[in-house]
Order: sequence, then structure tokens, then C-alpha cells
Amino acid sequence: MAKGNQQKCSFCGKPISTKELLIHGYEASICEECVETAKNIVDEHQTSTRKKEVLALKLLKPIEIKAKLDEYVIGQDDAKKVISVAVYNHYKRLMHAQKEEKEVEIDKSNIILVGDTGTGKTLIARTIAKLLDVPFCIADATVFTEAGYVGEDVESILTRLLQAADYDVKRAERGIVFIDEIDKVARKGGDNPSITRDVSGEGVQQSLLKLLEGSVVNVPPAGGRKHPEQKFIEVNTQNILFIGSGAFNSLDKIIAERLNTNKIGYNQKNRVLDKNNMLQYITAQDLKSFGLIPELCGRFPVLTYMSTLDRNALIRILKEPKNALIKQYEHLFEFDGIKLSFTDDAIDYIVDKTVELKLGARGLRSVMEKIMTHAMYEFPSADIKKIAIDKKYAIEQFGEEQV
Ligand code: ADP
Repeated sequence: MAKGNQQKCSFCGKPISTKELLIHGYEASICEECVETAKNIVDEHQTSTRKKEVLALKLLKPIEIKAKLDEYVIGQDDAKKVISVAVYNHYKRLMHAQKEEKEVEIDKSNIILVGDTGTGKTLIARTIAKLLDVPFCIADATVFTEAGYVGEDVESILTRLLQAADYDVKRAERGIVFIDEIDKVARKGGDNPSITRDVSGEGVQQSLLKLLEGSVVNVPPAGGRKHPEQKFIEVNTQNILFIGSGAFNSLDKIIAERLNTNKIGYNQKNRVLDKNNMLQYITAQDLKSFGLIPELCGRFPVLTYMSTLDRNALIRILKEPKNALIKQYEHLFEFDGIKLSFTDDAIDYIVDKTVELKLGARGLRSVMEKIMTHAMYEFPSADIKKIAIDKKYAIEQFGEEQV
């Protein structure tokens, strides 16, 4: 090509040889280097916009946090309210911590969520983390029961948080840790340790305390047991929000005993109590009676409960949340140009079977999956544009012997 009309990048003006890449547009061309530079500018812009959004989100007021939770979590109004306030205070505390002069230290608002399996405990915590765009991890307390012998060290919880934060320590230090099945580390003899010599649960509780106290913890980057060759990462847990969760079986009896509800429905002070939902009267005292050591109870100042989901709530969970199961299946079939729907009696049947499973809303997914597998296998290849799943079809697919 003659030098005079050698091609140039319209952005940097650099002449481009035939061997180099030049992308042609309508009235301009761009070289590889300029594409790279442009990409960096776009990335930077997106990151700063995202940062501004996150900041705005962190300033959400409790009512707004709850409204967001309402989009994903059905029912559980008390828990959603308590958690919205706790989370708001937590992040207010973080901002407060950045101030130079502090007359008052605001305490941390770690939360304990008590309630049956499949009532939305993990869902609430996960949704909060998503809302605030902070790293989130789930740790199962049962793997720590034999800490010191077999199982994982408590510090490995933070390894998971670091992983969720892409090893950005500063980000991890503002994250949320969800400790599932925290009830399983309770002392076996409740608050009377002399009944049994089993202290393994207490050992784990003591090590959890260290995390919750807000100290600098040496975290093995790859998790698992400590290896001498691993270099530890220092993580300060002061601003990490811990949410403990558990079913705390028979806790309702402990609460009832404390409230002395012998006279049906009434306690000593002649207060009318809702005997079907004793968890709503929970206090830290009850967790102590259950077998959590007082120091650990003290580190979880916010206590709330999840109600057992009734039929009505399960129907709403199937239909209403942003990522409701029915919406998900409808979407899946849309890909194949099929309009999927469920008749009311099919939904009633699905809920009946879910109630029998006793897994809370968690059971909805397995019941649905069983009913829909054949349809998902066969219908994409069939010449069908519309399908309504009715009770008869649901029974055929589920099989009455399943539950
Ligand atoms: P757990 O209380 O055992 O932590 P999860 O939060 O893991 O229960 O719930 C399991 C699944 O059931 C969730 O992923 C969600 O799909 C559904 N689910 C449970 N409770 C609710 C609820 N209150 N509202 C909406 N969906 C729920």
C-alpha cells in the first residue's frame, strides 16, 4: 500500500501496518491499542457507578430494606423487621467507626435466627448480602463440633468469606457470615453442664467467641487444617456481621416452661399467649437454657424467629417472589416457545405433598422437580405451544407412594 494512503487509527492517528489489527466502523477505524484503552475507560466508569449505587444502597432505611426483602421472602414479617433494623444499625456503625472522634462506641448487632428448616433463614441472609453487595458465606457449625480433633478449625469460616471477596481483605472485613445449625454446638446438658461430661460443643462455642469478639484472626487462605507452609492472612472481624441460624428443636418447650403456660394459653401474668407459636417469645435466657454459653448469647444481641410456613404461605412462595418456582418453570418452557401454566388444584396438590415432606418451602422444589421432569424431557421435542399442568397430571408424575 502506498505510504500516502496508509491506514490510520481515527482515534490516536497512528499509522497501522497491514499486519496489525484495525477495526473499521461506519466512518472511522480503531486500532487494538485504542480498543484496550476504551475498554479500561468503560470498566472504570462502570466500577465507579457501581460504587455509588452500593453506597446509596447502604443508606437504605430499615423500611426500605424490609420492602426489598419482601420481594424475595414471603411472610416472616417480625424477622424481616428485626433484621432490617439490625442491618441498618450495623452499617451505620461502620460509618460511625470511620469518624475520628467517637464518644459512643456502637455495639455490633450480630443476629440469631431461630426457626424450622426451610422457613427462609438462609434466604433472608443471602438477600441482605445481595442487597448490600457485600461478600457472603455460609458455614455449617456441625463440621466444627469436634474441633481440635477431627473437622475444621473455626477460622476456616473466614477462609470462605475471603474466597467470596476474591481475597480482597478489606471487602471481606465488611461481609456477612451465616453460621448454619448453630444450635448443634449447644452444650448437651443445656445450661447445666454437670449433667454430662460432653464439652465438645462448648469448645467450639469458645472458639466462635473469638471470631465474634472482633479480633484480628489468622486465616489459612486455602481453608481446611492449618498447614505449616501456609501463610496466614490477617482478617479483622470487628465489622463482619455474623448471622447464626438453627432450628433449636424443643426450644418452644423451654420458652413455655419459662413463661409457665400451664394454664392453657395463659401465663402467670395472665397474658394470653399464642401456644402454637411460642418462638415469638424467645429471649437470650432461652438460648442459655438450650445450651449456648452466656458469652456467646451476649455476642448475638439480636434475636428473632421464623414462623412455620402454612399452606397459604407455601402457595404464595410458589407464585409471588421475584424468582418464584412457577415463574422459573414458565421461563424455562418459554425458551421452547411453550406457554406453561398450573391449575389451582395442581398447586393445591403440590402444596399438600410439600407439607407432608416437613421440609418447609425447601420441599416445594423437590415436589415440583418430580412432577416436571417428564414434561421437561419430552415437551421441548413435541409440537406443543401451550400446556396446563393439572392435578391429574401432577398425581401421575408424582406417584402417591412418594411421601
Ligand atoms: P432455611 O430456613 O432452612 O435456611 P432456606 O432459606 O434455605 O431455609 O429456604 C430454602 C428455600 O425455600 C429457599 O431457597 C426458598 O426458595 C424457599 N423459601 C423458604 N422460605 C421462604 C420464604 N419465607 N419466602 C420465600 N421463599 C422461601
